[in-house]
Amino acid sequence: MSYRKGLHDLGDGCHAWLLPDGSWGWSNSGLVTGSGASLMVDTLFDLALTREMLAGIAPVTDAHPVRALVNTHSDGDHVFGNELLAERDVEIIASAAAAELMTQDAVEALARQKKLGGVIGEFARHIFAPFEFEGITATGPHRVFTGETALDVGGREVRLIQVGPAHTPGDALVHVPDARLLYAGDILFVGGTPIAWAGPIERWIGALDRILDMDVTTIVPGHGPVSGKPEVAAMREYLVFVRAEARKRFEDGMSVDDAIASIDLGRWAGMPEHGRLAQNVLNVYQQLDPALPRPERLTVLERIAVLEGFGAPEEVAG
Ligand SMILES: [Zn+2]
Repeated sequence: MSYRKGLHDLGDGCHAWLLPDGSWGWSNSGLVTGSGASLMVDTLFDLALTREMLAGIAPVTDAHPVRALVNTHSDGDHVFGNELLAERDVEIIASAAAAELMTQDAVEALARQKKLGGVIGEFARHIFAPFEFEGITATGPHRVFTGETALDVGGREVRLIQVGPAHTPGDALVHVPDARLLYAGDILFVGGTPIAWAGPIERWIGALDRILDMDVTTIVPGHGPVSGKPEVAAMREYLVFVRAEARKRFEDGMSVDDAIASIDLGRWAGMPEHGRLAQNVLNVYQQLDPALPRPERLTVLERIAVLEGFGAPEEVAG
């Protein structure tokens, strides 16, 4: 899916900073301007990318300085640049559930993954090679919320709506009613496969239904190009499909590994990051059987890597 890197003017004082191609770590930020002030939505995966964005949005923020930053959730590709905003006395806001996960451990876990051996290390180096995790200081919010809250951004209202746990425990939407615009964070992936780390998937489908009911026309996904409701509906279809296929296999008594291996993704088979199916099926199984052991994220990443062809024994170096 081809779209342009950098600043996109969405009208009504709203902007997006997009990082193609939207795969692992290539995330989007947003900027809402009011009178003499701006709200940033998410930072990027490392300090260099976030610095580049801050320079790129300066033509807008010179007149409307960033006063507040909202993190839509806790994943590094949306928060690892936070310290650069905190240095500028920007107030950082996130859901309480997201705040709990914005730890130095989370930074170091990713830095460590790139040094691991085996399939996980190979996969981590492949997907995270462009990003520098060394030297990042985890910087959580100054203010947290649960449920819904409203912010005043230079005289205009911006609403924060917690819809997680879905993709992660603390997902939130950022709604700009007077622009009929929504920053969806990773509740919406466009052109790639969503991954339900937290779920339950029912709740994520519910969040998408809620978006479909909202009076919005422009939707900025956490990954992918600027979109609208058709892309929300398309992602919803994928989640409904995975939930149905996984449930059917669970009810037939199939193991989770056999279920993952036997699902034919059909029209989604060519979708980037299709290996995330492994976590999505596991999520459905865990919902149906709460006693099921919960593997570490690394174990799940290994399953994803294998589904995407990493660590294949016949692979020839060079
Ligand atoms: Zn993300």
